[in-house]
Amino acid sequence: MSINVMRARADTPGVNHVAHLNNAGASLAPKPVVQAVMSHLRLESEVGPYEAAELARVALERGRSAVAELINCHTDEIAMFESATRAWGAALASIPLGPGDRVLISPMEYGSSYLGFLHLARRTGCRVEVLPTDADGLVDADDLRDRIDERVKLVAMTHVPMHDGLIYPVAAIGRTVRESGIPYLVDASQSVGQLPVDVREIDCDVLVGCGRKFLRGPRGTGFLYARREFAEQLLPGSVGLDGVAWDGVGYRLAPGARRFDTWETNCASRIGLGVAVDYALSWGVENTWRRIQVLAAGLRRDLAAIPGITVEDRGRERYGTVALTVHGHAAELVRAQLQRAGINTWVCLSNAACVDMQRRGISSLLRVSVHYYNSVEELTRVCDVLESLTVGTAMRAVS
Ligand SMILES: *Cc1c(COP(=O)(O)O)cnc(C)c1O
Repeated sequence: MSINVMRARADTPGVNHVAHLNNAGASLAPKPVVQAVMSHLRLESEVGPYEAAELARVALERGRSAVAELINCHTDEIAMFESATRAWGAALASIPLGPGDRVLISPMEYGSSYLGFLHLARRTGCRVEVLPTDADGLVDADDLRDRIDERVKLVAMTHVPMHDGLIYPVAAIGRTVRESGIPYLVDASQSVGQLPVDVREIDCDVLVGCGRKFLRGPRGTGFLYARREFAEQLLPGSVGLDGVAWDGVGYRLAPGARRFDTWETNCASRIGLGVAVDYALSWGVENTWRRIQVLAAGLRRDLAAIPGITVEDRGRERYGTVALTVHGHAAELVRAQLQRAGINTWVCLSNAACVDMQRRGISSLLRVSVHYYNSVEELTRVCDVLESLTVGTAMRAVS
């Protein structure tokens, strides 16, 4: 079903101020999310913050159950965090690893995640191995199977990276990992809210996501999915009041992912995340995903036709993030030029996607990431600005 773009834009006050093409960083929030966050902050100031949380209990819990509904799991398989990095770190810290254990990861891991693996190796003595890729930048499930032996204790993949339009075949890889019974972690920070993410289909043990990106939720929100049976084996690196039951003598970890809960949280943002997920569900992620694909494919085609621009995305299937380089122009300066024209984009530096960008010898990429609420006209404006830049260079070169 095609979506009503006029309504999507009317729900998004930000589109009147800027052409926002930095959705892979953080999206413009829709009105209902902004309203929910602001009205909870107001309620806190009027009746008292704890008292406001009691009044808003249902909306607060909806954060968790909405995420569960979105990714097709049980509510007790979700723990809430203030970022995907925190969620990922909590998962890594709770899986027992020791010297000689092997951990296989994709080269698409986000900078913080990769550093988290290096830190894991330092802490536990495990060996972190970055998997090779084929010409399309993808990890091959058969190649992965050949590398697995009894010392492999963890496999981690990023569903879609933050610096490239490619989509990883996480479900096919999941089937391979499942055969061996090794814990399988998936980073869905860029994919939740953008494309359908189903943890049963991916068949992973852990999956993390964030709220501010394609889910259009508030900043400082993230979540962890831990498969029920898997979560029962996890020993969190730290615990807090809501994650344990204390009987006066000892304590028991809460069932499932709830063992990661502490007590304090940013209530307004949590409520906002629930509203954002409900808002995404009301459109239907499969519907908004179809529009993102159409917009991004058109943008890639138009950008590739501009002399001096190279679209750097790989992969066989691509999503809404378009990565490009502009010949003779530093990405930072191109971004600044676009910003002056009222267009938000972003620059990915090699610290954010260390392994992949280092392997390819790319130090920076201009990232243009579209969401369903973007208009064709906004994308045309991007191309016009970039074309005027590159045409200017060509003319200088001639004169
Ligand atoms: C943004 C991002 C993260 C980290 O999310 P935070 O919420 O900023 O911690 C992890 N992985 C990928 C692929 C990302 O794009």
